[in-house]
Amino acid sequence: MDKPKTFFVRTYGCQMNELDSEIMVGQLLKRGLKQVYDEKEGDVLLFNTCSIRDLAERKVMGKIGQLGRSKKKQIIGVTGCMAMAKKESLFRKLPNVDFVIGTNNITDLGAILDNVIETGQKQLKTNDQFEENLDYLVAKRDDKHKAHVSIIRGCDKFCTYCVVPYTRGQEVSRPPEDIEEELRLLADQGYKEVTLLGQNVNSYGKDKPEWSELFHDLLYRLDKVDGIERIRFMTSHPIDITRELMEAIRDLPSLCEFVHFPIQAGSSRILKKMHRIYTKEQYFEKVALLKEIVPNVSLGTDIIVGFPTETEEEFEETLEVFREVRYSVAFLYTYSPRKGTPAMRWKDDIPHEVKEDRLHRLMTLHEEISSEERQKLLDQEVEVLVERKNRDGQLKGRTRCWKKVIFPGDDALIGTLQKVKIHGYNHQTLLGIIGNYGRINM
Ligand code: SF4
Repeated sequence: MDKPKTFFVRTYGCQMNELDSEIMVGQLLKRGLKQVYDEKEGDVLLFNTCSIRDLAERKVMGKIGQLGRSKKKQIIGVTGCMAMAKKESLFRKLPNVDFVIGTNNITDLGAILDNVIETGQKQLKTNDQFEENLDYLVAKRDDKHKAHVSIIRGCDKFCTYCVVPYTRGQEVSRPPEDIEEELRLLADQGYKEVTLLGQNVNSYGKDKPEWSELFHDLLYRLDKVDGIERIRFMTSHPIDITRELMEAIRDLPSLCEFVHFPIQAGSSRILKKMHRIYTKEQYFEKVALLKEIVPNVSLGTDIIVGFPTETEEEFEETLEVFREVRYSVAFLYTYSPRKGTPAMRWKDDIPHEVKEDRLHRLMTLHEEISSEERQKLLDQEVEVLVERKNRDGQLKGRTRCWKKVIFPGDDALIGTLQKVKIHGYNHQTLLGIIGNYGRINM
């Protein structure tokens, strides 16, 4: 097989997958391949997949199935969660695929590609254990001002609907010195904002008691890195959100006042069935404590509606929680069973129309609350990290609480923090004007 010169990457799913793609892109660039953005021009096509939703899987299967009609021979690789979930069966379902690499083996991409070229044979590597020698520093990021930084991989929580513990394996924390070094490098390159990533960042360090450094300790360490103005993290499991973490959000200047605090469902019975290991009441207690310690905090959530056996009354509890907490960011889904999860054993008994109706009611409530929250920001000043210009020539960025803002301004402001006064909004976007206002944390 001819030595490939170009590669194309498509990423599906979460930020963790985006970061893994950035690392794989970095590895391929280091080997002298050129990245292309049109799949027809790629000698190697890499699909970094997601398994969290049935729809995501079907989309990527359909996409790859259509490939291979081009005249030149392309090497097709599948990586990510679908690779872990389906392993060698992918070769049967998609005969045009040349290699399959699991989430724990992306370090081996180069060697596996060499094997495909030398032998012409299909290659599979999907170890259950994460190989800790992953070189994060090789990551090639497209964004110049904000970066994802992995701090822990895998998940030990085993929620009954979720494939992640099976596709990404057990929790493995990354050494704090390595994370700090990456932040220093990013600061030297001009990055202003980092998002610390993990399936459950709050578990950080628990798998390595010898380090004596937990998540909040790591935050105190990273806050000292000069040049990094904003630190975010995602995602969190409510059970592991501690008072120490809440105090860190209050006390550390770089830590943004936004917490992804995913409840998943409002009924304690459904939460138990989901194996979320907290009740609605325990969740409320944590939210109340967080709001007391960080009064200007903004919260995000994930919610699944139509989980097996969820009654109308139980769904209404979810609506009540939403009204009470007033989430500013919400990822809302209907339940879909995932192969290999405990919930797969239960009958998916909520009719499709009922699930859709519940989702629609929740989305309507979310929109009402978001709109009220946006109203409150009128005439307020917010801090925005200016990210880019949009198609209309307006500058675009996000507040510390993850709200999107657009405003007129000069290209020279891209990559800087600006005070912006809000004068209106449309849909999810705030409209502003630059001013010389004092810093506030919105
Ligand atoms: S905490 Fe639950 S939902 Fe989140 S990744 Fe782990 S098992 Fe999945």
